[in-house]
Amino acid sequence: MTAAVEAQVCVVGGGPAGLALALELARRSVSVVVVEQSSRFDRSFRGESISPDSVWLLQRMGILDKVRDQTLETRRMEIVDRGRTVLSANFSDYDQPCPYPMELPQPPLLTALADAGSELPGFRLMRKTVATALLREAGGPVTGVRCKGPDGEFEVRATLTVGADGRFSKTREMSGLPYEKVPLERDFVWFKVPRPAVWDGHTYRIRIIDNRHGLFIPTVPDLVRVGFNIPKGGLRDMRQQGISALHARMDELAPEISQGVRESVTQWSDTSMLDIFTTVVPRWSRPGLVLIGDAAHTLTPVLGQGVNHAITDAAVLARLVADAFGEGDEPAALGRATQRFQQEREGAVTRARGLQLRQEKAFALSGRIPGLLRSTAYRLANSSSRIKRKVFANLYYPLQEAAASDPLLIAPVPVPGPSTTVHSPT
Ligand SMILES: Cc1cc2nc3c(=O)[nH]c(=O)nc-3n(C[C@H](O)[C@H](O)[C@H](O)COP(=O)(O)OP(=O)(O)OC[C@H]3O[C@@H](n4cnc5c(N)ncnc54)[C@H](O)[C@@H]3O)c2cc1C
Repeated sequence: MTAAVEAQVCVVGGGPAGLALALELARRSVSVVVVEQSSRFDRSFRGESISPDSVWLLQRMGILDKVRDQTLETRRMEIVDRGRTVLSANFSDYDQPCPYPMELPQPPLLTALADAGSELPGFRLMRKTVATALLREAGGPVTGVRCKGPDGEFEVRATLTVGADGRFSKTREMSGLPYEKVPLERDFVWFKVPRPAVWDGHTYRIRIIDNRHGLFIPTVPDLVRVGFNIPKGGLRDMRQQGISALHARMDELAPEISQGVRESVTQWSDTSMLDIFTTVVPRWSRPGLVLIGDAAHTLTPVLGQGVNHAITDAAVLARLVADAFGEGDEPAALGRATQRFQQEREGAVTRARGLQLRQEKAFALSGRIPGLLRSTAYRLANSSSRIKRKVFANLYYPLQEAAASDPLLIAPVPVPGPSTTVHSPT
């Protein structure tokens, strides 16, 4: 076993939640070690739609400018049910500092977060390193993690361990915190195709026919990210029908991309399947440990909320944890901070999950009458600017609205200079 590494905080998982948290902590002079199992950030088909509130947070973190050329603004959204537009929204109608959702692939986002962190003295990212066990004193708090890295096993000892290791979180499993995994009735298949000339590059399109729906999201560079539903566990059946089954589905939902799909999606390995479930974790923390991002609350792909809540968790937790390290009895102060974190975040997560589940139910309606009810509901919402504004305000702009009345809610952090003293990892 190699020598132990020490830090005030150990973060398991270098996804959007873990890296944003580590950056924000290091900026507040808290020493932090991130252990990340993969060697590179070249993941594809992961959360790429960033909600306006997260765009705003990334701007305040100084990250947005570093990735601007890899982003695309989504300026409009339209839902077309059986060929008729039933709801459309123009995000320029929302008077917010950052009104537009954005497409931003994860590789540039994670690279920018890691690069910004690496400039700070208290930040350390250990790649190719898997957390394999929690360290804990008998009956006492979690005191870090045991890891396996390229040079063998070692321990990271920390006053606070953060599980940011995603939807299949091993930290959550090892912590013993109870949770409930709720599978949805349908799974999702993703792929990317060139954007057809007849589509502008800034409209998020949702197409529905009976209980089949597709998401068509323009992304960089000149592509469309496409997702469509399949029955739960139904990929094997669909694969057996050959790739022509996917082509036929696109012919039905979006003939504009039929040709592009035939040219660029020639086998099922050109696609990625997302097993859709949500996870409800009643308690996000226990002494010495807290869960954030997908580990605490896995969401569905509807309206790009996973990355949004991961980044918001990071921003809120960093503030509370840094304050707790400034108090006398650190374990007790951290316990209060992690509980407060859940109190501050849980309402927004629950609202997003509720909206996603209602949307999924609407998408899954089958038959003439249920289909008519669905399109009537969309049309009603569309005809009332008050309802539309309320739905998007709840989903896309709660932080920006709250910050307008309380500018200190998520205050930007001054970047510490080289002379700042931090508790450095060994
Ligand atoms: C196909 C697909 C499409 C999606 N589309 C969207 C979208 O458009 N918009 C959106 O907002 N969300 C989307 N999501 C969800 C989004 O990707 C997640 O919500 C988001 O990435 C959560 O961030 P996170 O940091 O909590 O977890 P993750 O991004 O999952 O990061 C967890 C990290 O932990 C690491 N890790 C895991 N176990 C260990 C271990 N034991 N030791 C060390 N490291 C470990 C992993 O390698 C990973 O880097 C999508 C997800 C998928 C799979």
